[in-house]
Amino acid sequence: MECRPGCAACCIAVSISSPIPGMPEGKPAGIRCIQLTPDNKCKIFGKPERPRVCTSLMPSKEMCGNSSGHAMDYLAELEKLTEPVQI
Ligand code: SF4
Ligand code: SF4
Repeated sequence: MECRPGCAACCIAVSISSPIPGMPEGKPAGIRCIQLTPDNKCKIFGKPERPRVCTSLMPSKEMCGNSSGHAMDYLAELEKLTEPVQI
């Protein structure tokens, strides 16, 4: 499946331990990525400084569901079960 435009659940719910431009320590779970625009687009999409974890995370029916609310709940649950992603 394709990433749902404007969803951004991955860019909010997930913790990222690798540096992001403007967030050198990465970001905690539940915090908006600084590179996310107000209309939920990635400002550094396609650029080399975009963290590898962002490019490697693939949309799936199970994770994304039919709404960003579903994805936020799914990813928040996943965060409770796993260690922060190390890249
Ligand atoms: S949860 Fe799925 S649809 Fe939402 S931003 Fe992530 S990949 Fe895209
Ligand atoms: S760098 Fe872009 S894709 Fe990665 S979390 Fe931030 S806004 Fe989302």
